[in-house]
Amino acid sequence: MNAIEITNLSKTYAASGKSPEKHALDHVSLTIPQGSIYGLLGPNGAGKSTIINILAGLVLKTSGSVKIWKTDIDENPRQTRSNIGIVPQELNFDPFFSPRRLLDLQAGLYGVPKSERRTEELLKLVGLLDKADAYARSLSGGMRRRLMVAKAMVHTPPILVLDEPTAGVDVELRNQLWESVKILNKQGLTILLTTHYLQEAEELCDRIAIINHGKVVADEDKETLLSRVEAKEITLRLDRDLASIPESLLRFSPQKEGKRTLAFRYSPKETNAGEIITATQQEGLGIVDLSTDDRDLEDVFLQLTKS
Ligand code: ADP
Ligand code: MG
Repeated sequence: MNAIEITNLSKTYAASGKSPEKHALDHVSLTIPQGSIYGLLGPNGAGKSTIINILAGLVLKTSGSVKIWKTDIDENPRQTRSNIGIVPQELNFDPFFSPRRLLDLQAGLYGVPKSERRTEELLKLVGLLDKADAYARSLSGGMRRRLMVAKAMVHTPPILVLDEPTAGVDVELRNQLWESVKILNKQGLTILLTTHYLQEAEELCDRIAIINHGKVVADEDKETLLSRVEAKEITLRLDRDLASIPESLLRFSPQKEGKRTLAFRYSPKETNAGEIITATQQEGLGIVDLSTDDRDLEDVFLQLTKS
């Protein structure tokens, strides 16, 4: 079963004042499997928060459909809200409430009976039990973020959504948050998070969608995305024009780039540059120049998101 199904979702923000209308999402389709940690990765302005805010019911979509836990958000917004907990990018809460009071109020808002409230358990989970009765305004940025995670969980939703959970958070707190996310996922929660940090998606997620200018440019399990990263490239410039690719080189599936250049993409597990060069020379072709390229996730990301 899928936790969230997003189909052809588009959003155009109306023009206001001097800003023209903005097509923030353009036919976005994404499927978030139950039990996964799913990362929505993209540069600032890509449209990540717009997606999250539509899930949260804070932004109205222009077109398309969204199903949360099998229920369409248009058909039963109440039902869908009960199945999802959302930690927004912008933290807003009353600074004069204590964490305990804040969680109690939120539980009340969701109609969770007193006997079923998990205030203590949630505060413990996010490491704030010793701050339960402190003013929220006295909490550090990282603590506030963790308090928001607890707040999103008061109604025990099966899906937790985190919009840029570690933006502006220091390394230690980031690691703590990652650990909390992993624990929650092990307990059975489906996690959807947005980030513009590659490393975060790589560390945490089992599936990653890359979004840019409101469009999905990749949506793959992490291993597949990383295998693209492991690809290497060697480009050979030859001493003569080639009418066609010599038969003996076809097994390396080269790309002909212009009359005298062959580009080979290969996996280091399968072959190496030496074999490719030897095979080329055995064809009687002289190599005038060569260049190699090691690709990492950053390259793949840049390649996919260059406008
Ligand atoms: P991300 O979260 O990936 O940084 P956003 O979803 O916040 O991206 O924004 C996507 C685009 O939509 C950006 O160009 C942003 O300026 C624009 N945008 C976001 N919110 C609004 C709004 N309320 N009104 C107009 N434009 C908006
Ligand atoms: Mg955002």
